[in-house]
Amino acid sequence: MSDIYDIIIIGGGPAGLTAGIYSARARMKTLLLEKMMCGGQVLTADLIENFPGFPSGTKGPELADLMLKQAEAVGLEISTCDVKKITLKKSEKDPFIIETAEGDIFKSLSIIISTGANWNALGVPGEDRLRGRGVSYCATCDGPLFRNKDIAVVGGGDTALGDAIFLTRFANKVTVIHRRDKLRAARIIQERALMNKKIELCLKSVVTEIIGNIRVERIKVKNVATNEEKTIKADGVFVLIGLSPNSGIFKGLLDLDEKGYIRSGEDMSTSVNGIFACGDVRKKPLRQIVTAAGEGATAAVSAEQYVERLKGTAYE
Ligand SMILES: Cc1cc2nc3c(=O)[nH]c(=O)nc-3n(C[C@H](O)[C@H](O)[C@H](O)COP(=O)(O)OP(=O)(O)OC[C@H]3O[C@@H](n4cnc5c(N)ncnc54)[C@H](O)[C@@H]3O)c2cc1C
Repeated sequence: MSDIYDIIIIGGGPAGLTAGIYSARARMKTLLLEKMMCGGQVLTADLIENFPGFPSGTKGPELADLMLKQAEAVGLEISTCDVKKITLKKSEKDPFIIETAEGDIFKSLSIIISTGANWNALGVPGEDRLRGRGVSYCATCDGPLFRNKDIAVVGGGDTALGDAIFLTRFANKVTVIHRRDKLRAARIIQERALMNKKIELCLKSVVTEIIGNIRVERIKVKNVATNEEKTIKADGVFVLIGLSPNSGIFKGLLDLDEKGYIRSGEDMSTSVNGIFACGDVRKKPLRQIVTAAGEGATAAVSAEQYVERLKGTAYE
């Protein structure tokens, strides 16, 4: 049997696992490489209320486990590997070469990239301990859990201000904390935020500590101009200071946008024939489990069609 895979998937979050379920069911010789535990960001989500099929919501690790079990049940081969390098094909019929930090070398006719993204953290005391217990990085995901509560939003860009406005649908009060004396968000978003009576601005300030016993109760904020520190009551802290795509190893190989997100088409094809991208690592408007899964399915079907065309077995 050839040691060349039809499809190698890099990253085992919802995008990669869904791509794996579709590829394995299509009887493609598929391998998924995940550097940590399968599940990706979902493993760190406390309660997920917006993934269809779970009317009472579900815990992130439970959903991740179900996705993994389903992938294994349809025969997906999974290996724990940290991918470090991809070498492009010499000619269309040749395989891509994938090298890992562990020293493995794999060959594949096509690649699906689903390496996801990481939310930038504040790095202050209390943040890690209270993650999922009031500390959130996603307003769309967790906003409805803060009905009639006091919330702090950290950040001054479009996402922070846009999400602060969105959060006023649920919250009693939203305090926006930004380290500069001016906000960075587009003027129109700033105007909307300033007109909103539930939003209060706390400029030239940084969060120095997140405090709470079991859940977030308050935060310490320092004015960077005066060094004065004060404590603000907050039931939730939304840290919205940016998301970083896990795309460093694809720099110079694929077309990335200015923030490092992979540019890909409707069929998930990238600037290199035979390489597809799905989930949070691609440039797109909504980063959620349901969109990651949908794109994983599309990437798998596109990769399958690409491989079958290469092998001359495509159903045209
Ligand atoms: C705390 C939290 C709560 C959230 N709540 C919700 C919610 O309620 N609803 C919702 O829809 N969305 C929620 N999200 C967002 C959702 O989890 C993401 O949109 C989704 O997980 C993206 O899936 P993905 O597969 O693209 O990437 P990820 O989930 O980021 O998975 C990428 C995987 O790739 C692996 N990887 C990266 N680089 C390599 C490499 N070089 N080699 C091998 N493996 C690699 C990573 O280890 C990771 O497992 C939440 C996110 C967080 C952080």
